[in-house]
Amino acid sequence: MLTLGETHYFSPERLFMISNRQLFLSHVAQTSPAPLLLEIERAEGMYMYEANGKKYLDLIAGISVSNLGHSHPEVVNAVKEQAEKYMHLMVYGEFVESPQVKYAKRLTEFLPENLNNVYFTNSGAEATEGAMKLAKRITGRTQFVSFKNGYHGSTQGALSIMGDEQFKRKFRPLLPDTLQLKYGNETELEKISCRTAAVILEPIQAESGITIPSKSFIQNLRVRCNEVGALLILDEAQTGLGRTGKMFAFEHYGIVPDILLLAKALGGGMPLGAFISSKEIMDSLSQNPVLGHITTFGGHPVCCAAGLAAFEVLLKENLTQQVEAKGKLFEELLVHPKLKSKRRIGLMMALEFENFEQNKRIIDRCIESGVLTDWFLFSPECMRIAPPLIISDDEIHMACSTILKSID
Ligand code: PMP
Repeated sequence: MLTLGETHYFSPERLFMISNRQLFLSHVAQTSPAPLLLEIERAEGMYMYEANGKKYLDLIAGISVSNLGHSHPEVVNAVKEQAEKYMHLMVYGEFVESPQVKYAKRLTEFLPENLNNVYFTNSGAEATEGAMKLAKRITGRTQFVSFKNGYHGSTQGALSIMGDEQFKRKFRPLLPDTLQLKYGNETELEKISCRTAAVILEPIQAESGITIPSKSFIQNLRVRCNEVGALLILDEAQTGLGRTGKMFAFEHYGIVPDILLLAKALGGGMPLGAFISSKEIMDSLSQNPVLGHITTFGGHPVCCAAGLAAFEVLLKENLTQQVEAKGKLFEELLVHPKLKSKRRIGLMMALEFENFEQNKRIIDRCIESGVLTDWFLFSPECMRIAPPLIISDDEIHMACSTILKSID
């Protein structure tokens, strides 16, 4: 039976895909009740192409992953070259693998001195898990403070600190000692105490529909963590690597975290995450017990080579410096009486509509017209705009005109 979300894509010209679509639904594990079911044959730059030639302008970058668009030639070359040299050799941390070494060195050149040591992981969730273990290990404490509507991954530690009860309820028991505060509320910061191992948050909440806290909230949070000896973990899985108009979003606030989480765009389209801290803090994972965090594939050489190539292109093409102007253009063009509000930093934007049904109808029309967008996990009434950073002004005009027509 087709659900409401699927009927839209079930047009006669798509019938030729039926077998793959059926196989997808029956043999690939499903967690979405209404998957988009687009079958993309190839993707290049800002566009994804179906077998029938229909193309889609990508406004979501695989959820803040494809900063350089799709299949950037320098990233593809780096993947090919590294795959020809070697792929997996040994579990994380035993061999000196030059793609890891080069990328860790290069990343830390752009980070404050206390963030000089990188543990590469497979994903954002694993970076969260590693950082939580590190905070427990270094403070000897067990409590984690996080924030309502925050998202840090889907594994059980990350789920324990997720700021949405609906996604957690059926998976309890989770970690016992967690507390979720109201994001942006300074009086709540008093609840962070000498029992707190770490406070973990996104410097701009993404899945809540782009929530940008005040500078004083983040600065007072840093002060409070210092007062009680809790570590401050910033999750920049979505905000990191240029998306907000700075290389790292914490630069907007004039503070530095004790642990930084990166993922998403870090691998240039390949799976890669990282938790980053000082060598002194990180070294605690190598004693008592040894091997404090183990991963077979974390920091895979092909993923690190791809990530490093993407990072170099980001720098060479000054993409971060162009982000604010591009985001502003979106904001200026997207004016419509049916839009309840817009929230934006850099090229992360939420367009708020009346409710999910209205938002979904508009999103469906956009997709039908060849513009790919979606909604936010904790904010289904908001449309997500987080395109590859390479988007051109012409493409922004085109995208906005399609969105406005779809709203009409
Ligand atoms: N942190 C944040 C802020 C995220 O947005 C996500 C993914 N949406 C994660 C962590 C988890 O990353 P992954 O899906 O790679 O585990």
